[in-house]
Amino acid sequence: MNILTEKELLEIFKKTEALLSGHFLLTSGRHSNVYFQCAKVLQYPEYNKNICAVIANHYAGFKIDTVIAPAIGGIVVGQEVARQLKKRFIFAEREDKKLSLRRGFSIKKGERLLVCEDVVTTGGSVFEVINIINQSEAVPVGVGFIVDRSKGKVQFGVHQKSVISLEAISYEPENCHLCNENIPFIKPGSRKVV
Ligand code: ZN
Repeated sequence: MNILTEKELLEIFKKTEALLSGHFLLTSGRHSNVYFQCAKVLQYPEYNKNICAVIANHYAGFKIDTVIAPAIGGIVVGQEVARQLKKRFIFAEREDKKLSLRRGFSIKKGERLLVCEDVVTTGGSVFEVINIINQSEAVPVGVGFIVDRSKGKVQFGVHQKSVISLEAISYEPENCHLCNENIPFIKPGSRKVV
């Protein structure tokens, strides 16, 4: 399979409206000139397959028993990477605000796991999954994720591979240059954004 270039990836993100340019009010209350919603691109299995191939290809030579992801965003990524690597796939989900293994999923002592996620901003969920692996006396081999929004700042202390880096730039409303230019803002998800 051909591995996508960064330019091809960006084209896919724009075509599927996963990546939008404009003037946006983010859920944090801050303003931004770009808006990114990974699920918009991953809703197409063919794109998901091609994007996850970058991660699967990267980890093809590693000794991995199982792929694991935090719910919900990581599931479509982990499932596809596991399918391509022909490995078992499990996920951790939140119960009382804490990620844990449910549904009879378990990790054996010494098992080697690859953690997958869609977007890393602070990496909180991935750190929690690595914690679950360590508590099981298993081995976190690496982390594979689609978008690094931390500009390489988040380091998991194991091998890591992101498909693309998209820096998250946002402004306090009072310092927003787009507001200063009287460009109306849009709250993504609340109405059609084109
Ligand atoms: Zn603004």
